[in-house]
Amino acid sequence: MAMSVQRQVVTDVNESAVPGQAAQRGAVGPVGAVAPTGTGAVGRPRPAGAVDDGATATATLLTYAAGNPARREEAGLRGALPAPPELGVAVVACMDARINVEALLGLAEGDAHILRNAGGVVTTDIVRSLAVSQNALGTREIILLHHTGCGMEMITDVGFRDQLERDTGVRPEWSVQAFENVEEDVRLSLRILRSSPFLQATTSVRGFVYQVDTGALVEVPL
Ligand SMILES: [Zn+2]
Repeated sequence: MAMSVQRQVVTDVNESAVPGQAAQRGAVGPVGAVAPTGTGAVGRPRPAGAVDDGATATATLLTYAAGNPARREEAGLRGALPAPPELGVAVVACMDARINVEALLGLAEGDAHILRNAGGVVTTDIVRSLAVSQNALGTREIILLHHTGCGMEMITDVGFRDQLERDTGVRPEWSVQAFENVEEDVRLSLRILRSSPFLQATTSVRGFVYQVDTGALVEVPL
């Protein structure tokens, strides 16, 4: 689901590079306004003003990133580490900004695969990525991370899709995969992962609810 969103964003960025369309984007209203141009590659309206907005946070982050080679060298890292994760672990987590997965689990570069989306739900694309993680890159253990106060508990599948359709004129074809109970969704995710024919190499799959107020992990038994 989240990957679908990502692909959509990428599509829109590409469209903005088409001569004429970028200018058209700049000529319309504020962020969030709908510009039913009808000139996109697939002939549907798309949000206006969402891309060329200055992106000052991105500029700040890129300035920090420019120092990464020096920081890496300072940390004693020279050249590329092996692609197969050192610990043989894949983490599936919600994209919530309050979960710093690397800091929480003490992960360093090269240690683990970290797959994130809205809710940390097991989508087709999560299964795809885990299948590659296990069958091409040798991971064997899966850690699932949901959390308290998740936005996915605060929306409903139909309600969110209705709202998107009202706001954009386009009804998403993907499921939002919202959930009402975080622990139940962890159990559901664990069952899906345990029964997947593509994840037969799994030796351990455990699910947790991260407590955003204390930083503690609470395991959810199946
Ligand atoms: Zn969340």
